[in-house]
Amino acid sequence: MSAVVRAVRTSPLEAPLHDPFVIANARLDHLRNVAVEVELDDGTVGVGEIAALPPITRETQREAEQAVERVGPTLAGLDPSDAEAVEERLRLALPELAATRAGIEQACWDAAARAAGQPLWRRFGATAHDVITDVTLPMVDPDRAATLATQWRERGFRTLKIKVGRNLHDDLARIGRVVEAHPSAGLVLDANEGWSVQDALTAVRATRRLGGRIALLEQPVPRDDLDALARLNRDAGVMVAADEAVHTEEDVARIASQRIASCINVKLAKSGVAGALRLIAAARREGLATMIGAMVESRIGTGFAAHLAAGLGGFTVVDLDTSLLLAEDPVLGGTVLDGPRWEVTGVDRGHGGGVRR
Ligand SMILES: [Mg+2]
Repeated sequence: MSAVVRAVRTSPLEAPLHDPFVIANARLDHLRNVAVEVELDDGTVGVGEIAALPPITRETQREAEQAVERVGPTLAGLDPSDAEAVEERLRLALPELAATRAGIEQACWDAAARAAGQPLWRRFGATAHDVITDVTLPMVDPDRAATLATQWRERGFRTLKIKVGRNLHDDLARIGRVVEAHPSAGLVLDANEGWSVQDALTAVRATRRLGGRIALLEQPVPRDDLDALARLNRDAGVMVAADEAVHTEEDVARIASQRIASCINVKLAKSGVAGALRLIAAARREGLATMIGAMVESRIGTGFAAHLAAGLGGFTVVDLDTSLLLAEDPVLGGTVLDGPRWEVTGVDRGHGGGVRR
């Protein structure tokens, strides 16, 4: 008889950031997420994270807390390892709040792993694959971007993700300084929907002329303009990933059949845990590459995703670096990010993390 859910609680998961996190469609100065704790009747507690970053996520911190208060009692008595039952109940109760569902699902998976005495990655696969993340350079001025890039490269990061998409002139200056300082780094250019096709082609050509190596062009154009994304996928000469344009298996099927992108960025906060597993399976069936990313999250959310990536393996890009943006670590214990490497095998039960109070 396996343990069942007894209670669901939240607590704030907050920390200041080193630099304001400025991207094409949002700005964040202080992390204000929500930790979800799912307690089982044997006393085991699992922990998940709700990313609250409107307009990227639908819910604010307060709305996420209220949603958990509402749905928590309806989960009592459920087996946390019955991922389908958990997901179904959450989808019925919170159809619009994907990030909140993802945090509660994470807490259930973590509780099930801890109750079984297993590290979390074991729930997703038989061996632990290496999980090596890129690191993000936010929209800072070119010199600051180059300085940050140097610091990260000295700590072992091989791939730099450059946030672009608000002003092409500034983007080119930032990319140029980073490439000049680090010509051998792999580059992910993430415009968060902020470019036109012409902007993207200009940036790709300019980066190449400088000798920069683009590993991936991420959601360069608006999510609804699938024709524009498909044109870039055909003409840019680099791998193009859909991020904001992919949430469901239907999106994956359309992206594959119409060759809209060659890679999809999977985030738990967009699709939940069970949903992410279905997206990844669908993408791989269709021959698309997969990337795993996160919203701005602490080591609870990104650590969970790292365990999923370790168990499944096969991700072309791992973008699980946002705990590095935080000036204070709000997580007690948990999975360690050592340079660019997630040390998932250093954890005995679940992801091992809790909220520092
Ligand atoms: Mg993105």
